[in-house]
Amino acid sequence: MAKKNFLKIAKTCLQLKCPNCGEGKVFEVQADKFLAFPEMHKKCPKCSYRFDREPGYFLGAMFVSYALAVAEGLISFFILKFGFPQLEYFSIACIITVVILFCAISNYKLARVIWINLFP
Ligand SMILES: [Zn+2]
Repeated sequence: MAKKNFLKIAKTCLQLKCPNCGEGKVFEVQADKFLAFPEMHKKCPKCSYRFDREPGYFLGAMFVSYALAVAEGLISFFILKFGFPQLEYFSIACIITVVILFCAISNYKLARVIWINLFP
């Protein structure tokens, strides 16, 4: 039972969907704006579940975003260190910085959805 719930929660997190109904999208679709800052819906478009409970509710999502960035940095480091042993540490640090910056917007979205699911 718990494993099934975990899989359902992981699926809604990765799809950036509502934690209540699992159908409504948490973020607005901005297909016309490339690299635009993502905007959240105030409520779920399907079930009217309110995402932003109180002022500062998403402050904790910052820590989730930090953990995601650290994980991406570590994964990148091990891939670069053991996949490309000729690279110097400075080059590895530059590549990791680019990877983390490239993933910043998706981290922001994913961190908020994870936060909503952790503290519904
Ligand atoms: Zn919903």
